[in-house]
Amino acid sequence: MDQGSAHDHSRRDIADRTVVLEQQILAKNASLASRNRGWLEGRGVFAINLMSSPGAGKTTLLERTIDELNDEIDVFVIEGDQETPLDAERIRASGRPVVQVNTGAGCHLDATMINDAVHRLDPTRGSLLVIENVGNLVCPALFDLGEARRVVLTSVTEGADKPLKYPHMFRGADLVLVNKIDLLPYVDFDLDRFGAMLRELNPRVPVRSVIATSGNGVQPWLEWVREQRPQLTVSGVSLDSMIAPF
Ligand code: MG
Repeated sequence: MDQGSAHDHSRRDIADRTVVLEQQILAKNASLASRNRGWLEGRGVFAINLMSSPGAGKTTLLERTIDELNDEIDVFVIEGDQETPLDAERIRASGRPVVQVNTGAGCHLDATMINDAVHRLDPTRGSLLVIENVGNLVCPALFDLGEARRVVLTSVTEGADKPLKYPHMFRGADLVLVNKIDLLPYVDFDLDRFGAMLRELNPRVPVRSVIATSGNGVQPWLEWVREQRPQLTVSGVSLDSMIAPF
């Protein structure tokens, strides 16, 4: 065997071992994610995995969501970032319980981190749990956390070609939010082109425009949350309808 072929062989071995290791990591994650999902569903906690590029407006959307839903739904938050407690401090300032997870070199949250964070947070029955994932459109798409829905936030300052460049992220979305829509006149973002690319990957996904910095600009997103959130029932009667309005 010549040296070149031995080199090719060892590269192939490393590649094969890498694939097996990735499969094992994803399988372990999937199993823990389904336990998380069972625990959350058992408590009637509606969990959303919120994903986007850095700077798309996830934390701002969350602050606005908490303001708007405050009298209606208990909101709990898990904040994922590589470093700093900055986003958790913003959520805490809005008055809601939050756990910050710092992933260090890691580029995504995983089901183990969520299992730990959820038990520290202890979300109440019927609450909304929003998991703000680490900001990027690549790794978070691969890791199920046990969420009920995946929401992908994009913003018009990022360019309309993102669904084509990051298909896994957009293919797995249950809702796509387009943020900073008030900046459309100032940026080169073709909404029709974005919509057409998205439909090719994920034909039925709903798309809502939002302006996270403005109260009125988040109503379409809040309507979707209200629609999607399962109604808690006791013997078929909605708990919401049993709560007297006084
Ligand atoms: Mg953030």
